[in-house]
Amino acid sequence: MYDFIIIGGGILGMSTAMQLKQAYPDRRMLVVEKEAGAARHQTGHNSGVIHAGVYYTPGSLKARFCLAGNRATREFCDAHDIAYDICGKLLVATNALERQRMKALWERTAANGLEREWLEAEALAEREPNITGIGGIFVPSSGIVNFAAVTRAMAAEFERMGGEIRYGAEVTALEERRREVVVTTGAGEFTGRYLVTCSGLMADRVVRMLGQDPGFTICPFRGEYYRLPARHNDIVNHLIYPIPDPAMPFLGVHLTRMIDGSVTVGPNAVLAFKREGYRKRDVSPRDLAQMLTDPGILKVLGRNLRPGLAEMKNSLHKRGYLELVRKYCPSLALDDLGDYPAGVRAQAVSRDGRLVDDFLFVNTPRTVNVGNAPSPAATSAIPIGAHIVERVKQQLGD
Ligand SMILES: Cc1cc2nc3c(=O)[nH]c(=O)nc-3n(C[C@H](O)[C@H](O)[C@H](O)COP(=O)(O)OP(=O)(O)OC[C@H]3O[C@@H](n4cnc5c(N)ncnc54)[C@H](O)[C@@H]3O)c2cc1C
Repeated sequence: MYDFIIIGGGILGMSTAMQLKQAYPDRRMLVVEKEAGAARHQTGHNSGVIHAGVYYTPGSLKARFCLAGNRATREFCDAHDIAYDICGKLLVATNALERQRMKALWERTAANGLEREWLEAEALAEREPNITGIGGIFVPSSGIVNFAAVTRAMAAEFERMGGEIRYGAEVTALEERRREVVVTTGAGEFTGRYLVTCSGLMADRVVRMLGQDPGFTICPFRGEYYRLPARHNDIVNHLIYPIPDPAMPFLGVHLTRMIDGSVTVGPNAVLAFKREGYRKRDVSPRDLAQMLTDPGILKVLGRNLRPGLAEMKNSLHKRGYLELVRKYCPSLALDDLGDYPAGVRAQAVSRDGRLVDDFLFVNTPRTVNVGNAPSPAATSAIPIGAHIVERVKQQLGD
């Protein structure tokens, strides 16, 4: 019998496991993960940006945890000798409408307590000679890291304190009883007094295994990237982002310096026909059927038909994708876009057809389940783990 079982070997599962073990060093704990190692899904397929907290609704969990997570991630990396670079981020306006939106974003960065600098076109050109824009906001606290490396260090820390990890153990059934939770996996059955689930793209299915209606369905959005050739490794000095359309849930194609020195372009946001489908041709009949019969997802798709189809078109036609980035980096050409692996985002959609904006948790007497944890959840992983530990303590009456 374990005291705690944690499902999911992504950054949220490992962060929570590590902090639970720090809070309860003498309790027996187990992480179960279906893949052969940690960070094989969202955590290992993202932009690697330590977000500053620019966009999020002031007072939301995203805004609070991102700000705290930015600091906590740096401290964790310092303590574990993990490379990171606080290279700063530039949000670039390329037309009058974006400049208008830039003002709203400027207010929001103030409300979120961020240090930032307003740049007119000249100052922008000075900072970034290869970027064209009519103005920008510079946010110095954004950075880059390899979140898979962070996750592996958290897993090692958990094991060092005596925690156990079972890879290759897919959870297929859960039963919550009065005094325990039974976790059935492909690698055997485990019983725990308490369960935490951080199952990313499978979050709704795992909650359903507990016999609960989560009230949302995970909709997978693939984010496709390209990598620039090495001769462009110094094309930008910072992370370059467009000014986002506030009606759209994702940030828009950006130029990201990666911690290995390369520069990627992306990600876009295309409806994926398979939850863990990283290639355009990946289709899961089960996932597709669930999406196409889900009233909430159908409403979202109906409302976003035009931008959704435009994203799909640009996904299939590299030239369309290129134009998204040439808006602010006009020197790039088609043959600069080299292959790079895609990621798939887990986005919860409510029954009434809303993309759930904030982080979301679902509680039962003996479980805490992460329901919605899209970006910036990698940046926020340490505060999210701490938040879960607090919830567990409250539920246990400790
Ligand atoms: C394209 C893209 C770009 C992003 N960019 C950024 C960024 O720059 N900065 C940022 O902060 N965030 C970013 N994010 C968001 C961030 O990556 C995620 O929010 C974060 O990784 C979520 O972590 P997780 O542990 O919840 O999920 P995951 O990493 O997906 O982990 C969930 C784990 O649960 C396991 N699992 C699921 N079901 C079962 C089961 N039945 N049995 C056993 N195991 C199971 C899975 O195998 C998986 O390993 C990005 C995401 C994507 C996709």
